[in-house]
Amino acid sequence: MKALHQIGFVGLGKMGFPMAGRLAAAGFSLKVYDIDRRVQEQFVAHHPAAGSESPADVARRSDLVITMLPDSNAVRAVVLGSSEEDGLAACMASGSLLVDMSSSSPLVTRELGIYLESRGIQMMDAPVSGGVSKARDGTLSIMAGGESEVLERCRTVFATMGERIFFSGPLGSGHAVKALNNMLSAAGFIAAVEVLLVGRRFGVDPQAMNEILNASTGRNNTTENKMEKHVFSRSFSSGFSLDLMVKDLTTAVDLARELEVPAIFCTSCRELWAAAQSSLGRGLDHTDVARWFEQLANARLGA
Ligand code: NAD
Repeated sequence: MKALHQIGFVGLGKMGFPMAGRLAAAGFSLKVYDIDRRVQEQFVAHHPAAGSESPADVARRSDLVITMLPDSNAVRAVVLGSSEEDGLAACMASGSLLVDMSSSSPLVTRELGIYLESRGIQMMDAPVSGGVSKARDGTLSIMAGGESEVLERCRTVFATMGERIFFSGPLGSGHAVKALNNMLSAAGFIAAVEVLLVGRRFGVDPQAMNEILNASTGRNNTTENKMEKHVFSRSFSSGFSLDLMVKDLTTAVDLARELEVPAIFCTSCRELWAAAQSSLGRGLDHTDVARWFEQLANARLGA
């Protein structure tokens, strides 16, 4: 099994920046690219890594290229390029490896995997869960889909960024599990906001009620980790955007539709998040969604 020495990293956003930073700190030879030149310059100024002019430039010398981009549209654009010569696929060597760690569409991932395979390039999807703080600490959960031998090839690289590394099944399955995980997380978020608003109208202090929930069977990741920190405090600063959450929920619903699973609850959940996004506007944190439910109820959860 050929060792991975030279790593290319595309997408230095809220997650990609700290993830690539951990690879640089671990001593991997790293070449990075982001369409936002300022972000790339900032990364190179603070880490032992080389910057690139284009995805093709990253591809040429890399054994492994990691993408950490907003969605499948961006991944497709970077992999296929605008012409035959300037995408990752055209310039990566046969025998090299592409790992998409973005939260992408499993259906697009499958298509890209087939195309890359025809060029002798292996693909794995390895999206992450845990957010910006865990990306910084290297304690993300990584859910990897593809060939299990490819996962073994990537294990040392993944261990630099993640604490728990799961094999989820064939190519695209990591992306499927990630979108479905976020569906569950999003459903838990708005369910918690709604019950707290009902409690408040009855006269129960939301913070006291949240404490009771956290000692009871209704507790979830939102009541335990997000409500106090982002909603009661009014900081709305988790680092995961509302726009990306709606994208993930759309991925989950599209997948259910493609597989002919009715998923009525998931469809309604996506509709509520999308309605909040169009009412509140773009560029917000996903925890801002609580403000839309507060507006509907004409009540506030925070101080
Ligand atoms: P982000 O928007 O902060 O970063 C995306 C980066 O990609 C930006 O720096 C942008 O300039 C760059 N980019 C966009 N198009 C590009 C292109 N064509 N070529 C090169 N660079 C390009 O997003 P993020 O929060 O870092 O999330 C990245 C992925 O990880 C998303 O799929 C998201 O759903 C997922 N994710 C995010 C979190 C989180 O807490 N933020 C947690 C888990 C998973």
